[in-house]
Amino acid sequence: MKCPFCGNPDTKVVDSRSGEDRKKRRRECNDCGKRFTTYETYDVSDAPTLLVMKKDGSVELFNRTKIIAGISSAVKKRPVSAERIQKIVESIENAYAVRESAREKPIFTTTEIGDMVLSQLKECDVVAYIRFASVYKDFDNADSFIRIINDEFKSQM
Ligand SMILES: [Zn+2]
Repeated sequence: MKCPFCGNPDTKVVDSRSGEDRKKRRRECNDCGKRFTTYETYDVSDAPTLLVMKKDGSVELFNRTKIIAGISSAVKKRPVSAERIQKIVESIENAYAVRESAREKPIFTTTEIGDMVLSQLKECDVVAYIRFASVYKDFDNADSFIRIINDEFKSQM
């Protein structure tokens, strides 16, 4: 990136900081020595971009790492392999691909994504399922928690 002060194309990065959705770089011109800041951010204009709509209506990028972290904490010390977690995430990405091939907007709500994870955890491990559900379903009281467990595991209890 060329220097905005003297136009010299030879600049170096002196500091780099990553935020949640953008990267900030401090650059220094190798000619005039002045410093300036550049930002690296997403370009949501080019597909495929997987989007998530949050409960408050705001839209953010589908964050694979965040989903894996969420599932990982739910399956802690449970017999669910890292490969299985990868498969769950891949199935969500496949669901996005299906939307895109149907020329629909590649967007899911956090609730839909939570449900996709839950339907698969249900097949892996009851404890992991309940842990994940307790985070995603926002249980407001003990009754709703018991109700969901009864509904989901009738056949197994
Ligand atoms: Zn310069």
